[in-house]
Amino acid sequence: MNEKLLKIGQKLIDLGSLEIAEYEYLIDNRNEEITEFLKKEAVKKRKEVYGNTVFIRGLIEISNICKNDCLYCGIRASNKDCERYRLAKDEILSCCDEGYSLGFRTFVMQGGEDGYFTDEILVEIIGEIKKKYPDCAVTLSLGERSYASYKKLFDAGADRYLLRHETADKEHYNKLHPNKMSYENRMECLKNLKELGFQTGCGFMVGSPYQTTHNLAKDLKFIEEFSPEMCGIGPFIPHKATEFKIYKAGDVELTCFLLSVIRLIKPTILLPATTALGSAEQGGREKGILCGANVIMPNLSPHSVRKKYELYNNKLISGNESAQEIENLKNSMKNIGYEIVTDRGDIKEK
Ligand code: SAH
Repeated sequence: MNEKLLKIGQKLIDLGSLEIAEYEYLIDNRNEEITEFLKKEAVKKRKEVYGNTVFIRGLIEISNICKNDCLYCGIRASNKDCERYRLAKDEILSCCDEGYSLGFRTFVMQGGEDGYFTDEILVEIIGEIKKKYPDCAVTLSLGERSYASYKKLFDAGADRYLLRHETADKEHYNKLHPNKMSYENRMECLKNLKELGFQTGCGFMVGSPYQTTHNLAKDLKFIEEFSPEMCGIGPFIPHKATEFKIYKAGDVELTCFLLSVIRLIKPTILLPATTALGSAEQGGREKGILCGANVIMPNLSPHSVRKKYELYNNKLISGNESAQEIENLKNSMKNIGYEIVTDRGDIKEK
């Protein structure tokens, strides 16, 4: 038994807070015993807040056109092999219609940074969704925009915004992104989103190129301090048309361990078992739920475009990943003791 490890684990459970060096020690020295211990405690805390319920979000990938060139991403601007598309307003609204009848009460519009989607156009789309489905939440995941832009989207009725910070270490950030993008701006955007009143989500990839344990420890400290309502983490998975194709995929076990740690940092957090986790390993999403995650985001995009929103190789687009197969997903959750609910799924603040 490693006394130091258990002491740090207990501190995390009691306080939801560790020093960066302690997070680092925890990750580097983790073994089966501490992993199981934290997993059990994470699930306990999750159940105190959310019982055995799992929230679902209908993910609508509205455009794969992007002005950015993030080195890891399959839809980066310089990928000439990527067949580009964007959905029209009516197509997005049809996705919502279908999603609503399947039991979804949150719609997530995600996409590349596509200049077509001006504030004006987005305000109109958000307004129409809200008018038609006032009992639903609208989440946006459309990258970096100005304070004024975020404000317009919030005022139009958008409830939540997902913007992964990608890494809380500036030097690491610069290794994952071209010079044009900046760590400071990403962090500024997150701060602005929170200030405006969005339920805000940050997050990062596990095992992204050049990532060190120290970087991960800083990610955890950032989550602790920023205290986001949501946090999306999933393994990095290489994409064949990016220069990061030579790097290996992130580790599923480490991702699950970090899900438990994040649940312990903030017991009320909305924590998805991501598509990347499900894509990296069969049953990955179930594993994530069993480690403390409480959200799943099935794909509600039109079938004709799903293959084109390829952030990484072998991204799941069918099976339980597909919103249309919600019955299967319900069953697979039931099999592990959880229940998918028809609910907006807002954060339950204590
Ligand atoms: N343009 C939006 C949406 C990005 S796609 C934005 O900037 O927020 C959503 C997330 O997918 C990204 O934040 C990134 O963390 C993840 N992602 C991109 N490429 C990936 C890859 N190769 N492996 C795993 N996750 C990836």
